[in-house]
Amino acid sequence: MHVSGMELDEVTISRAIVSEQSRVLLEYLDVDVAVVGGGPSGLTCAALCAENGLKTVLIERKLSVGGGMWGGGMMFPRIVVQDEAKRLLDRFSITSTQYSPGYHLASSVESVAKLTAAACDAGVEFLMLVSVEDVVVKGDGRVGGLVINWTPVETTGLHVDPLTLACRYTVDATGHDAMIAHMVARKGGDLHIRGERFMWAERAEAQIVGHTKEVFPGLVVTGMAANAVAGECRMGPIFGGMLLSGEAAARAIGEALR
Ligand SMILES: Cc1cc2nc3c(=O)[nH]c(=O)nc-3n(C[C@H](O)[C@H](O)[C@H](O)COP(=O)(O)OP(=O)(O)OC[C@H]3O[C@@H](n4cnc5c(N)ncnc54)[C@H](O)[C@@H]3O)c2cc1C
Repeated sequence: MHVSGMELDEVTISRAIVSEQSRVLLEYLDVDVAVVGGGPSGLTCAALCAENGLKTVLIERKLSVGGGMWGGGMMFPRIVVQDEAKRLLDRFSITSTQYSPGYHLASSVESVAKLTAAACDAGVEFLMLVSVEDVVVKGDGRVGGLVINWTPVETTGLHVDPLTLACRYTVDATGHDAMIAHMVARKGGDLHIRGERFMWAERAEAQIVGHTKEVFPGLVVTGMAANAVAGECRMGPIFGGMLLSGEAAARAIGEALR
């Protein structure tokens, strides 16, 4: 028996979930910013865009956000962040300790949890187990929407037509695959993708903010997608660049939509 003396009803539980998610889906079919990918750069960008008052949805094809951050380095759930990005750990209340001058250690689990909490607190809405399979580009030549479908439809190869959402800006935060950038390039968009290069943490971390930009009208790349488009090196389990790149993407969109 429930504390209120009322019998719990399974159908009421179902109605609550279906009606609320239907309401959210209808509301978020037209947004200011659609962030594709819930890794560290996508979560950071989404949280800061929403804090900036932009209606923001984060689309993640897996059942959980976090991307490649969970695994830390070689499955050790620890990440390293350099001095330049320490302020973002503090900003998101992520506990860190200095390993040696310039190197700050944090738990990958706490980092994902706190970035996700920041995005939730800022009002970001999440579409989980949803994959972006194409982009909408019309007469104005800019990415003005995304074609979405349930990830299981994609992975099982079911022939089910997708739906479409409208967005003023799309953020490709899909990691090394730079999925959205590739979709634009594959369909003849004027976008050249150079592809990720060798491991060189110093260079990759130093360059990533510069590579975080609008690479096609309406499309901003962040995180490893930014390095993949620019033909930049990879950096391994140092995550400062991911946070700084997410912040830079949010800043660029904020300025463009002001
Ligand atoms: C398998 C793997 C390989 C890695 N390789 C490297 C490496 O080569 N170099 C390196 O420096 N670091 C690597 N890392 C470390 C680290 O993961 C990344 O550097 C970091 O997590 C990248 O952050 P991100 O935000 O750019 O993207 P990620 O953390 O990769 O997150 C991208 C997110 O986008 C989602 N996504 C992708 N496509 C779609 C789509 N079409 N629709 C919706 N969601 C989508 C993914 O599910 C994922 O959650 C790797 C980690 C993993 C797990």
